[in-house]
Amino acid sequence: MTAPTPTTGHSPLHLVLATSVAMATLGNWPLWQALADLGLLQTAQGWGLAVALAVAVFGALVALQSLLAWRTTLKPVAIFLLLATAAGAHYMLAYRIVIDQTMLVNVLQTNPGEAADLFSLRMAATLLLGGVLPAWLVWRTPVDDVRWPQRLWRNALATLAGLALVVVAVVASFQPLSSTMRNHKQLRFLINPLNAVYGLGMVATEPLRRSSSVLLPLGTDAHLGPSHAAGTRPPLLLLVLGETARAANFSLNGYARPTNPALAALPVISWRNAWSCGTNTAASVPCMFSHLGREEFSSRKANHENLLDVAQRAGLAVLWLDNQAGCKGVCARVPHADTFDLKHPALCASGECWDPVMLDGLDARIAALPAAQRAKGVLLVMHQMGSHGPAYYKRVPPDFKRFLPECSTSNLQDCSREQLINAYDNTIAYTDHFLAQAIGWLQKRQDSHDSALVYVSDHGESLGENNLYLHGLPYAIAPDVQKHVPWITWLSPGFARRQQLNAACLAGRADAEISHDHYFHSVLGLLDVQTSAYQPMLDAYAACRGR
Ligand SMILES: [Zn+2]
Repeated sequence: MTAPTPTTGHSPLHLVLATSVAMATLGNWPLWQALADLGLLQTAQGWGLAVALAVAVFGALVALQSLLAWRTTLKPVAIFLLLATAAGAHYMLAYRIVIDQTMLVNVLQTNPGEAADLFSLRMAATLLLGGVLPAWLVWRTPVDDVRWPQRLWRNALATLAGLALVVVAVVASFQPLSSTMRNHKQLRFLINPLNAVYGLGMVATEPLRRSSSVLLPLGTDAHLGPSHAAGTRPPLLLLVLGETARAANFSLNGYARPTNPALAALPVISWRNAWSCGTNTAASVPCMFSHLGREEFSSRKANHENLLDVAQRAGLAVLWLDNQAGCKGVCARVPHADTFDLKHPALCASGECWDPVMLDGLDARIAALPAAQRAKGVLLVMHQMGSHGPAYYKRVPPDFKRFLPECSTSNLQDCSREQLINAYDNTIAYTDHFLAQAIGWLQKRQDSHDSALVYVSDHGESLGENNLYLHGLPYAIAPDVQKHVPWITWLSPGFARRQQLNAACLAGRADAEISHDHYFHSVLGLLDVQTSAYQPMLDAYAACRGR
């Protein structure tokens, strides 16, 4: 006969039930808020739907936690879920973002500066009261320890009971639930903290769906075309990779405020109908430099080499300068350097470096590239900090703030709409200044190089339209302002001649619809790199060549 296990505290099931109730109800405040905003809580049926959702979330959390309710995992799992719930609720409420796989990839790839931008007292308060305090209570709560066969049996039973509850709740509300979820797809990404658990699961299982160990070669036949014939000046192409710049706020594209005074005085061509591949940096940047289009890229089974690898293989010198959170793997096999933590006395005075720092000492950086490649031509990429939010005000030196008063906090909801837009427009006007400076730098090299600049942003931004802020909504439900991006081209006369590009023709294509799908092929076309990976149909400049 075995002695009964002495009881010293609560049963693990009590802990699971208590935390699940808290997360399914209070922790899902953003979901209830969204249902109320949609007018769904005005009817008894709507309330029934909300109750069914809460019960289903509760059941799922009980099942998940019971599955992992072992001596060493019970409390860490509960604490992780509580913290994820509090953090998710804060960001969903503060910025109306949703939590999905790409958002989590962004979180995991974020650098300390970006994290600091998102830090605020309100966030600290929400995390402390909503996450850390309950997590501390969980940690302090004594829990009975039972022998493993008994625990296995109890865990299995509780998991099954939780799942059964989910089934009952879903079946009972099937009609309104399925139509609401179909009509308002964003709601599923608000279900806290299951959205984060699901997203992390997708991130963790990505290697199963896509081989990360294999890198497929691309453009192995790449070589320089006839415009590179002996005796010609080598090309110098600067790709400025914009950050969070939305097409609608460029006066070149018809915006009423003068956000582009410097570019307006230069012979640039602005294409007004360009669309991004993703709604955040981690999704867009690799997609832009890939030969694949948006849909092929997202369903790819393995990773390929990219635009920079092909240009380098053709013999050109390539350099990636990064003033932001890194190149997302794109520059892994070409020379690259970070500039955001340099110590330039004027351009890094605030601690973070403003974008023109990438032009500082650039000649020396280029001179350090292999001479044989440099002689054939240079492909330079500058990854901007641009309009990265929510701390827009940090992206612009004090002397360059044209639109005041501006929002000078990361808590966008504490600012008026006017202040918010002023702060954002200041970043666009500063990018205008930076691009004009870069063109000035290129103009000075026209005797030795045929120079050109192509500026395209990675994605757009929501500035409070429909109560949405920032970016990163899943592509299918993201508003146009998060996907509509600027695409601006400047060609030196020599570059236009070597490419036989007709400026009037290029300007005439201002409203032709293009997207990041065209980026890879357009840049290869500009560089006259010939390879089977190049598709002339996707070269946005091809129609204006040779006229
Ligand atoms: Zn971005």
